[in-house]
Amino acid sequence: MSEKIVLVTGGTGLVGQAIKHIIDTEPEGSRFGKQPGEKWIFAGSAEGDLKDITQTRALFEKYKPTQVIHLAAIVGGLFKNMKYKLTFLRDNFLINDNVLHVSYEFKVKKVISCLSTCVFPDKVEYPLDENKIHSGPPHDSNFGYAHAKRMVDVQNHAYKEEFGCNFTSAIPTNVFGPHDNFDLEDSHVIPGLIHKCYLAKKNNTPFVVAGTGKPLRQFIYSYDLAKLFIWMLKEYDDVEPVILSVGEDEEVSIKDLADSIVKAVGFKGQYNFDTSRADGQFRKPASNKKLLNLIGGFEFTPFNEALDQTVKWFVDNYDKARIGQVKSS
Ligand code: NAP
Ligand code: GDP
Repeated sequence: MSEKIVLVTGGTGLVGQAIKHIIDTEPEGSRFGKQPGEKWIFAGSAEGDLKDITQTRALFEKYKPTQVIHLAAIVGGLFKNMKYKLTFLRDNFLINDNVLHVSYEFKVKKVISCLSTCVFPDKVEYPLDENKIHSGPPHDSNFGYAHAKRMVDVQNHAYKEEFGCNFTSAIPTNVFGPHDNFDLEDSHVIPGLIHKCYLAKKNNTPFVVAGTGKPLRQFIYSYDLAKLFIWMLKEYDDVEPVILSVGEDEEVSIKDLADSIVKAVGFKGQYNFDTSRADGQFRKPASNKKLLNLIGGFEFTPFNEALDQTVKWFVDNYDKARIGQVKSS
């Protein structure tokens, strides 16, 4: 059996650490477990800055991966995306271009890159599906991130057509779980509100939710997403992307999310909405039909159970939980 070396870029982040957890805990040889003879590497930016092609080549030279799950990216919620549009565009484009090109140079057998449902057009018929990525401009709030990520799909097709590369992409909805970035301002809504609610309870201060509370989002637990990435690596071989999501009927309003967080944190006070702050895209419901047809059924962790586990992880790990920062390149 030839040795399989799976390199996970962005391996220290929310999704990377979730894949590590599943690889470490599922039985070897099972559908979502590590396969016999497989070696998994989880690389963070301390192992090399993927914006730099020389450092990217050095990382690939060091591990000689046969498979790559490419997660490394500048990531953030609505407010960070609104502030750093060029950084999101340029840094993510550089990272993706280097990882894909060096994967081609090193004859990597398969690369799965990570897009996001943010890449879809703002004005489009719902639900979103894999054929609609390029059919209109993205929402203005995150156009930098969205264009850099959309380009990965274009690059994957070009690498396949010119060089026959087996490069593809996954499209998750909003992700949450242990090891997320719980920064108060730059994070996504779930980790941001968990942190704010935790402080409100601890310090007896107001808990303030940004926006009107009306927008809708689909959330996927990072441990479920990790299993879906492992499934894709083993069982999916096509350049076209796959949306990795709960059902389109499982949208949650930000108000309902805030209520669930209040309950999970055990906060007894009132909370209010700061309607001077942006709501972002109103909704972006995505279909998981293609995924379910291909995988033949999947049991998602119930949302409140996943939220309780995430809050528990955050409280237990408060001292080392992540505070994100954007550095301009
Ligand atoms: P995250 O927790 O912020 O982790 C980002 C990872 O990328 C970290 O391991 C970080 O390394 C690494 N990284 C950043 N810049 C780098 C650079 N210049 N060179 C090398 N590594 C670099 O992000 P995440 O939420 O796990 O996101 C993983 C993937 O999922 C991303 O591609 C993201 O676009 C996508 N996604 C996320 C969500 C979401 O809701 N979180 C939704 C849809 C799609 P260090 O921490 O070691 O610096
Ligand atoms: P998006 O799905 O890319 O827009 O990312 P987010 O995870 O940042 O979700 C943004 C939605 O949550 C918007 O409707 C915000 O107004 C709302 N929201 C409420 N409070 C917060 C917060 O503390 N942080 C973030 N990021 N969003 C919040």
